[in-house]
Amino acid sequence: MSQTAFSTLNLHADLLKNLTSLGYESMTPIQAQSLPHILAGEDVIAQGKTGSGKTAAFGLGLLEKLNVKRFRVQSLVLCPTRELADQVAKEIRKLARTIHNIKVLTLCGGMPFGPQIGSLEHGAHIIVGTPGRIEEHVRKGTLNLDDLEILILDEADRMLEMGFQDSLDEIIDAAPQRRQTLLFSATYPPQIKSIADRIMFKPVMAKVESTH
Ligand code: ADP
Ligand code: MG
Repeated sequence: MSQTAFSTLNLHADLLKNLTSLGYESMTPIQAQSLPHILAGEDVIAQGKTGSGKTAAFGLGLLEKLNVKRFRVQSLVLCPTRELADQVAKEIRKLARTIHNIKVLTLCGGMPFGPQIGSLEHGAHIIVGTPGRIEEHVRKGTLNLDDLEILILDEADRMLEMGFQDSLDEIIDAAPQRRQTLLFSATYPPQIKSIADRIMFKPVMAKVESTH
């Protein structure tokens, strides 16, 4: 299998150095297919099995674009469950180790509102959460998405299976029209195609049959 080094990408030197220290030497196939497009600012639909490295694909994309000096929500990652949101936040924090003062906040259902509202008042760069709770914060006005640059739907097929369609629509309505949208999914059923047609702009398809 062909291996592509992360160094072939135009990533900030500190991100690259951190990848080396994490032992990430070459891109997984889904990363090699999607990252050049993600870094070019294109909308991307990436389909690949569990364990294929999808989190780092979008994580590196959002970290590369992030301006840490602007303390506004610049990226939002939507995940089907709290466990997955926690895993994604953990991986993003790991990839972001060399970026000082970065704030990654998780907002999930089943957790009390008060502390989440307090954290939102302090501000964050990246939000990772579940659609129901994010929708509630958007409705209450406790989460403002006016400065959002990248919207990520992780495990989009599972989010739709779990009945999050209406919450997703509400959140997307509150996001700026001019944004980058990335959709990750293990499968590509017709409902995913339909949502992609509505919320994405000329998406590039990245698909990998097997894991690395
Ligand atoms: P997926 O979301 O596709 O199911 P994950 O993003 O959770 O997969 O990645 C699975 C595992 O692979 C994680 O433990 C992650 O740290 C690791 N990983 C991701 N990309 C690389 C890479 N390029 N090199 C080595 N390990 C990687
Ligand atoms: Mg994943």
